[in-house]
Amino acid sequence: MSAPALPIPAQPHAPLPGAEVLDKAARGERLSAAEIESLYHLPLPEVASVANLLRGARRDPGVVSFLIDRNINYTNICNVGCNFCAFYRTGRQKDSYTLEYEQVSAKIRELEAVNGTRILLQGGVNPALGLDYYTGLLRHVKANHPTIRIDAFSPEEVLFMEKTFGLSLDALLDTLIEAGLDGLPGAGGEILEDDVRAKAAPARIRSDDWFRILDAAQRKGLYTISTMVIGFGETYAQRTSHLLKIRDQQDRALRDYGGNGFSGFAMWTLQTEHTRLHGKAPGASAHEYLQQLAIARIALDNVVNIQASWPAQGFKVAQAALFYGANDLGSTMLEENVVSAAGGHGRHQATVRELIRIAVDAGFRPAIRNSRFQIIDWPDARAALHQSEANPERERAVGTPG
Ligand code: SF4
Repeated sequence: MSAPALPIPAQPHAPLPGAEVLDKAARGERLSAAEIESLYHLPLPEVASVANLLRGARRDPGVVSFLIDRNINYTNICNVGCNFCAFYRTGRQKDSYTLEYEQVSAKIRELEAVNGTRILLQGGVNPALGLDYYTGLLRHVKANHPTIRIDAFSPEEVLFMEKTFGLSLDALLDTLIEAGLDGLPGAGGEILEDDVRAKAAPARIRSDDWFRILDAAQRKGLYTISTMVIGFGETYAQRTSHLLKIRDQQDRALRDYGGNGFSGFAMWTLQTEHTRLHGKAPGASAHEYLQQLAIARIALDNVVNIQASWPAQGFKVAQAALFYGANDLGSTMLEENVVSAAGGHGRHQATVRELIRIAVDAGFRPAIRNSRFQIIDWPDARAALHQSEANPERERAVGTPG
């Protein structure tokens, strides 16, 4: 005779709190600070799944874009002295430099030869330069390279100009715009929490000034993007706060400045080789990078374009990032100097062919965009992938079908 069946106790069916948060995000609802912070404690595949869903809802899910551009660091002399920077020099060091306008032109001609459309013109904070150097440089580029967009000067450089040249921020930006400035990259965001910034770089621009300058740029119709660097030893709460400050600024800009907010969001991991932070900051693994990217996609519900970072994480992780919320591979970045000086992934630049390869191998259609993330060209991926790396002439043709 079999034993009588035991009564089965009623099971509580309360859903896991994490699942509720992800469901809410997947429905397109805005998350609170506490909800965003809770995402760091959930399994990454589940967070990534929602990030990928949202990415597909905000940009064509089958397309990955990138920009053909060049970084030009017009000077490496800088008096800010960030502890995480291996790029800057004092004016007395033998390898310090400030480029002549014609040297800048020579670099742009190389960009024009590969059908590039934008330069990212940034430097150290060089106290020897007057306002006429900056305006003259912008005028020179516009006069000699009229098809090239100039996105130039981080908020740190703008703050220096504001303090040094006796102009209000509005007047300074008007002067730079009149000389040819098209956009103000949001470099130097790192973690926009002053506790973190003070330890990593005591003289670094503070978060209020960073937002004040970007806000003014957006008000004047300039291109801007938002940035983030993880790995300083910041807490999840500080990362969350950083994202929320960007989200708030984006709300303000979209509402008040005719929709001219951040065109995108770029995030990478701290590199400390050859810097004073080496061995003192934890940095961030590929897993942390992908986690942060996915959380950024979920938290920044008002920023459409999220970039994958290959200079810091390498091509393979950047390719994986396309499934963690990123819809864009950034840019070719001919001559990246700053991240690579502090280690990076051994990569200073990418060819058009390499970025096409990353997109195609991951199952996406590659698209070439401008700095406003508008698609301007559909490269012939099949032709590009059959070209020889050793044949730059053929590579050049990729960007100009027809
Ligand atoms: S990160 Fe920029 S501001 Fe800081 S030391 Fe390097 S060049 Fe100067």
